[in-house]
Amino acid sequence: MLVKCRMKAAVIREVNDVRVESVPIPKIGRKEILVKMMACGVCGTDIEKMRGEFITPPVLGHEATGEIFAVGADVADFKVGERVLVHHHVPCYICHYCRHGSHTMCGEFQRSNIDPCGFAEYFRVPEANVDRGAVLRLPSSVSFEEATLVEPTACCIRGIMKSGIQIADDVLVIGAGPIGLIQIQLLKLFGASRVFSTDVLGFRLEAAERFGADETINPRQEGMVESIKAMTEGRGVDVVIVATGATEAILQALRSVRKGGTVNLFGAPHRGTSLSYDVSEIFIREISIIPSYSATELETNIALKLLVSGRIDLRGLVTHRFRLDRVTDAVKYAAGGKDCLKVIVIP
Ligand SMILES: [Zn+2]
Ligand SMILES: [Zn+2]
Repeated sequence: MLVKCRMKAAVIREVNDVRVESVPIPKIGRKEILVKMMACGVCGTDIEKMRGEFITPPVLGHEATGEIFAVGADVADFKVGERVLVHHHVPCYICHYCRHGSHTMCGEFQRSNIDPCGFAEYFRVPEANVDRGAVLRLPSSVSFEEATLVEPTACCIRGIMKSGIQIADDVLVIGAGPIGLIQIQLLKLFGASRVFSTDVLGFRLEAAERFGADETINPRQEGMVESIKAMTEGRGVDVVIVATGATEAILQALRSVRKGGTVNLFGAPHRGTSLSYDVSEIFIREISIIPSYSATELETNIALKLLVSGRIDLRGLVTHRFRLDRVTDAVKYAAGGKDCLKVIVIP
């Protein structure tokens, strides 16, 4: 049982000011569980939250894994000591959005969350998450660290499925950070014929090759759109996945996709971003723009299965680890991106 009643947790004070403070350990209800955090990934949306942009809900650290520390009296399915990964959002499955397949647009989905956040020694998992499949057991073969990447993988799977990737498609992934590298692996599993990867950082392009990219392009060294056209008989690729929030990347995507092709907006753009693009081109070239935000436990389960069966390598993405006390440095380091892929926070 808990002997102490306070713990360390990251708290956003104001813009660019995230502190690790002593806060009360959350009390759990009869149908809730308390998890002792063992590893939590730093996501692009954490960087955006620290900068005060809050496109997504303002809770830091959602790629959380750990060991069940306590269970409420009415929790029958989980036991203390089990190793789990927790998905932070769950849809209600009965509202208008859920009934029309837009589960991540459900009001309850965006409100539900772990408490206080994933960058904490312990976090409370609300009843809705416990009840509706958002707590997944980890087999002993899967480490906590690699399991932090299941959530981002689930988001990628949802984006790929929404984009309607077909066997033998040519796909361009813009951005070779952790997300881009997961996308490359998944696209190969989904049957893409060629996967092109672009990034301005050489070490990320090398990683892209390791993770299965067929061609890599550094837009600082060669014209990206021209290179893509040259490699696709002038057509452009069938699908582009924009795995970065950079505005320029969205423009490059629109120029690199073939007529009738699809652009998947995956990276969160900065709030207030507007594009200067001739909309008639989207019409006459029949370009589908498909945004994809977050994932549900459906994709989370698929992602975990792929990890457990060894179909994807998530371990190889983790390059830096920071202790919880240094969470601000962790987020800043991930934002700098100079020599890192996935940055994770450990207790
Ligand atoms: Zn994330
Ligand atoms: Zn709903």
